[in-house]
Amino acid sequence: MEDLKGIIHKNYSKIQHRIHEACLRSQRSTASVRFVAVTKYAHTEWVKALVELGCTQFAESRSQQLDERALQFADHLHWHFIGPLQRNKVRRTITHTSLIHSIDSLKLLSTIGRIAAESGLQPHVLIEVNLSREQNKKGFAPEELLSNWNAICEVPHVRVEGLMTMASHSADPELARPVFRELSQLRDQLQTVSPPSIQLTELSMGMSGDFEIAIEEGSTLIRIGSALYTGLD
Ligand SMILES: *Cc1c(COP(=O)(O)O)cnc(C)c1O
Repeated sequence: MEDLKGIIHKNYSKIQHRIHEACLRSQRSTASVRFVAVTKYAHTEWVKALVELGCTQFAESRSQQLDERALQFADHLHWHFIGPLQRNKVRRTITHTSLIHSIDSLKLLSTIGRIAAESGLQPHVLIEVNLSREQNKKGFAPEELLSNWNAICEVPHVRVEGLMTMASHSADPELARPVFRELSQLRDQLQTVSPPSIQLTELSMGMSGDFEIAIEEGSTLIRIGSALYTGLD
């Protein structure tokens, strides 16, 4: 029977190989794609195994678990927040987070800016876009994002670094390609109407089922959960 570390190591190596191949296909350097290990369903032991393998970027979707883990693990790790952020959790979350991927309203962004000012911080954030147009998905609709963009750019004490999206879950990852392409085009369009202080360098797109397509379409941050834990329970 393989041990926990062995299983995670094997999964991790396979994913790294697939990232490498996708980068080769799209003539990108592997350094241009940041690997973020999603640990929302992972036991602490699994997170420890990932740290031992050299992972430094982790993502949580609940502020409480992010808080606990950021305090529990060593300082050199970076924690990303990828879930719905309640306004009363903002203060705690921004102190432990390297990047918040899931800004889904101007109101949330303004709250973050206000609390960041009080705390002397400047959180880095991404704007979540709902391109699959599913009712149950969070994020700005593209039209809504365009009409709110000036106001987003004016929120002080935050650094908007790019966009995030989730494609619909499907057995065929190719179906995600148009969604990822649209996010990249939307980023280009928004960049042309942004002040020079805003540089939209990040595209957070691609999960276990579709990260290779996302890399081919320009993703700079892939968020991988379940593929890391295949074979564990
Ligand atoms: C859970 C989650 C992921 C990881 O999904 P997997 O399919 O398990 O890789 C990525 N992004 C977000 C926003 C998530 O909530």
